[in-house]
Amino acid sequence: MYDLIIVGSGPAGLAAAIYATRAKLNFVVLEQNFMSGGQVVDTYEVDNYPGLPGISGMDLAMKMREHAENLGAEFRIAEVTSLDLAGDVKKVVAEGETYETKTVILAMGAKHSHLGVPGEEHLAGRGVSYCATCDGAFYKGAEVAVVGGGDVAVEDAIFLSRIASKVYVIHRRDELRAARVLQDQLLSLPNVEMLWSHTVTSIEGEGNVGALKLENKKDGSHKTVHVRGVFIAVGIRPTSNLVAGQLAMDEGGYVLAGEDCETSIPGVFAAGDLRKKQLRQIITACGDGANAVTSVQRYLTEH
Ligand code: NAP
Repeated sequence: MYDLIIVGSGPAGLAAAIYATRAKLNFVVLEQNFMSGGQVVDTYEVDNYPGLPGISGMDLAMKMREHAENLGAEFRIAEVTSLDLAGDVKKVVAEGETYETKTVILAMGAKHSHLGVPGEEHLAGRGVSYCATCDGAFYKGAEVAVVGGGDVAVEDAIFLSRIASKVYVIHRRDELRAARVLQDQLLSLPNVEMLWSHTVTSIEGEGNVGALKLENKKDGSHKTVHVRGVFIAVGIRPTSNLVAGQLAMDEGGYVLAGEDCETSIPGVFAAGDLRKKQLRQIITACGDGANAVTSVQRYLTEH
């Protein structure tokens, strides 16, 4: 019987693991992938994590993982397939094995949203990508497009502008959502063309992506841009399907929990991008990990 099982090893899960070792809890981290870090691993450069300016996402993820491991945290690569959270003993099933635990921290994070337009699924991996840092290098000297107007879209476009000959940024509004410092950087780049107030209606191509069909939301006109790659960065959706029906969530599938990370079930805590909150960044995910372990300790003392 564990004191705690942490599901997920992005920044929230890794911070929770660091705090749990220092609290001397009997716990294990179950992670889906060989590589810890969650979405951070897909980030080329992280420039707003205090004390580590300009660190690559991969390096930051590895440092966090090493930190937890050096303190004695145990990690297992085991995909969780079901969770039974009711009752004092929670059951977590992963790779056919059932783990029993007094508390659970859910830190499964979020995944990329899709556009849902014709051609997107069919051409995925053949010009359609959700990770510029993973796939950008294939587009040296080519024309590419980025869809979206948030931090990820703008960071991706800046990154791709160093590789591709031209980057179109297709955004559905005439104002970006990304941080101002990123916007200023993007708009100063000579090989970036903004396609404001446009949406993608289809992704075209036989074997590989060849073009995008766009609609201008302001005047209803249509146009085609010829690109070899399209990077879709239209936000994230929470990985909460495993706990759907068990925990209170909002309409977007984010788990309802306050700063103390307490969910609607005693002994179950939600940390990181999975939780309904104002700001989803590495620093807030780490803060959740720390808060969740503090709540776990309080729960264990009281029960
Ligand atoms: P986001 O901030 O939610 O932005 C998503 C963008 O995609 C928005 O511009 C949105 O348009 C657009 N969009 C959504 N659905 C669309 C659709 N169906 N068709 C066309 N466009 C669509 O998501 P994100 O950029 O992936 O970032 C996710 C989270 O990670 C955010 O909280 C972000 O701040 C955080 N993040 C932080 C850092 C960092 O701290 N360095 C780096 C990257 C990401 P509208 O603007 O019109 O809604």
